[in-house]
Amino acid sequence: MTTNHGVVSAFDEVNVFFDRAAERLGFGDGQREMLRRPWRELQVSIPVRMDDGTIQVFAGYRIQHNAARGPYKGGIRYHPDANQDEIRALSSLMTWKTALVEIPFGGAKGGIQCDPRRLSEGELNRLTRRFTVNIEHLLGVNRDIPAPDLGTSSQTMAWMMDAFSQIHGHTPGIVTGKPVELGGSVGRDSATGRGAVYVTREAANDLGMDPAGARIAIQGFGQVGSWTARIAGDLGCLVTAVSDVQGGIHNDRGIDITELVRYQAESGTVVGFPGTERITNEELIELDCEILVPAAIDRTIHGENASRVKAMVVVEAANHPVTPEADDILNDRGIKVIPDVLVNAGGVVVSYFEWTQNLYQHQWDMGRVNAELNKIMTRAYQSVRDRVARDNVTHREAAFLIAVERVAHVAEIRGFI
Ligand code: GLU
Repeated sequence: MTTNHGVVSAFDEVNVFFDRAAERLGFGDGQREMLRRPWRELQVSIPVRMDDGTIQVFAGYRIQHNAARGPYKGGIRYHPDANQDEIRALSSLMTWKTALVEIPFGGAKGGIQCDPRRLSEGELNRLTRRFTVNIEHLLGVNRDIPAPDLGTSSQTMAWMMDAFSQIHGHTPGIVTGKPVELGGSVGRDSATGRGAVYVTREAANDLGMDPAGARIAIQGFGQVGSWTARIAGDLGCLVTAVSDVQGGIHNDRGIDITELVRYQAESGTVVGFPGTERITNEELIELDCEILVPAAIDRTIHGENASRVKAMVVVEAANHPVTPEADDILNDRGIKVIPDVLVNAGGVVVSYFEWTQNLYQHQWDMGRVNAELNKIMTRAYQSVRDRVARDNVTHREAAFLIAVERVAHVAEIRGFI
């Protein structure tokens, strides 16, 4: 399972989960190939005039995995490690995610290999525009609709929309996760975290765990992690640890998240927050707590540290944070893993609301967004839970069984095979 660079392939890892589902569903080799492989992959070179006058050429990707159930949908990430294999893996997760929560999209992902923290605002703007122009022929409100992901934001989406609209006329529905003033949906920024908390609530209920007073450790304090931390308080959870790229903080009696958000906005990191002890990102994974939420990058729980996880349940707010090897170890140890395709689907669900609002040029209020998000996330959780009970499988296996079955069924009734 290594790529030609000698590293373990993220796409192969994700397909371990896919293959288990396909096997159980009795799919033949051809059908598996059709569902496994991305339908289209585009790699582009993006030349950018840097602020110092030099030209730098970045590698960008848009990978369209599957559109059987609707237009391709998925985020764009800016990260030094973004590469074709990783984007491919993430594009397939989007296919299973949209199918699992039953929104009318397929799956895609894109990215640019760059370190956004080292680029100026002007450089990021030029990079985003050139990238958009390079992939523009693949996009469309009924073809492929990008969104933010790691290292991108509503500002990135505003630039993408503007670049696309310069060619095609005003087209707000071409991206989601836009600023609200430009046709974005209220509640989109908090949606992934909020969805993760809804799923945590359901899972805790099922496991007979009272969320009130449960200690929750969250790896990552970006868009997803920080909103998860803020909203987890509504369940009465005690956030005892959080982290960012610079490190983590811990206080077993709980951290005041409102104050922490203020502190992080000023200092640029969670590290050093008064009343907490400093820990590393690795130590956070192994902390004594009831709920562990990886909400940062992929593969932070792996074969080396999975045996030291102490939480009762791992809630995957990041994409692909647990390797297949770690997944088996956690399952053997009786630790429940609630999978990414379910936990973090709230983002793309509210993206769906945003796209819908753009199509009929209307704006929902926060109450409606959150109520409908709650409905969809709860329904998806319950379908997974029912499948767990019916087939005696893990939550991840159940989620993949449901999703793969749905995509395969639609491919069949569309009659293109
Ligand atoms: N990047 C997010 C994800 O991984 C959201 C994608 C979207 O809204 O299209 O689910």
